[in-house]
Amino acid sequence: NAAFDVLIIGGGPIGLACALEARKAGLTYIIIEKGCLVNSLYNYPLYMTFFSTSERLEIGNVPFVSINPKPTRPEALEYYRRVATSNGINIKLFEEVQQVTPNAGEYTITTSKGAYHARNVVIATGFYDIPNLMQIPGENLPKVTHYYKDPHFYATQDVVVIGAHNSAVDAALETYRKGARVTMVIRQSEIGSRVKYWVKPDIENRIKEGSIKAYFHSSLLAVREREVDISTPDGNITIPNDFVIAMTGYQPNFELLQKAGIELSNDGIKMPSYNPLTMETNMPHIYLAGVVCGGMNTHVWFIENSRDHAEKIMTHVKGNA
Ligand code: FAD
Repeated sequence: NAAFDVLIIGGGPIGLACALEARKAGLTYIIIEKGCLVNSLYNYPLYMTFFSTSERLEIGNVPFVSINPKPTRPEALEYYRRVATSNGINIKLFEEVQQVTPNAGEYTITTSKGAYHARNVVIATGFYDIPNLMQIPGENLPKVTHYYKDPHFYATQDVVVIGAHNSAVDAALETYRKGARVTMVIRQSEIGSRVKYWVKPDIENRIKEGSIKAYFHSSLLAVREREVDISTPDGNITIPNDFVIAMTGYQPNFELLQKAGIELSNDGIKMPSYNPLTMETNMPHIYLAGVVCGGMNTHVWFIENSRDHAEKIMTHVKGNA
């Protein structure tokens, strides 16, 4: 089968932006996505509200109309699906890319269902597939989740929420409001500074009034069927527990990058090596796009400030063609 000009790995917002830009540049392209369309967004909490206003989530100059300033997850799914379908984006879903290998001046892309050839590869795989683990006993019990979805499930239950950033705060507030008894376990001294500005006072006031219990400078030590152990500044404690929602963040699939020959920085950030002007990595004709670029610094890139990766990449691809 003929080689594509561009093969894009990942059908998230930025993978889609790359496809629209490739099409505009007259390049042949395909997206390979391991899950459903915009898989990460699909797997977000059901009632999540974005921190970005809708126009900042737009790709390919298609207006994102929302009656509220901040769109919700279902609105974003509608938007990206309509952008993909109305533009006839060439995308294969439920097919995972396993390896990218140089092959006679091109690349062979091996997937769970077959193989493709492309002159250029864009890796837009995000970071939502691999959670940061707490590495504690009991973490693998079914009552522990790294993917919080729906608050109703936790009604009347003793819930521990780990973390102090947006995901943890949303989970704590939502489950508390559906009748869970919520305890937050937070390593830092306070709620994270990047928590959505309209949500931060809500969580701080719930903690102050005691309706949500919070242990700061604390960490979870162990999870058992009916209780958890917490290390606090006043010593270790054990509290009753039904469920643990561990919002400890996520990390990109570094293995896929390394197997493709992309170098990572030697520090804890594991920053992939790429030229910020063109987004090309140390591997010629392999590009990075979207939030995968930040390595472990997953908060640095988001849709608003990474959608222009698409244009940078396709300009460079076109220039090389
Ligand atoms: P993703 O959307 O993660 O897309 C990557 C895609 O690649 C996924 O669909 C994945 O299934 C696929 N993939 C991964 N590996 C493979 C493989 N080997 N083969 C094939 N496909 C693969 N950003 C904002 O701008 N505004 C917000 O309000 C916002 N809120 C967020 C809320 C939450 C809960 C989280 C977790 C993140 C939020 N973000 C927000 C960050 C957001 O995830 C990114 O901005 C956005 O999803 C980045 O798009 P992306 O295309 O780079 O990555």
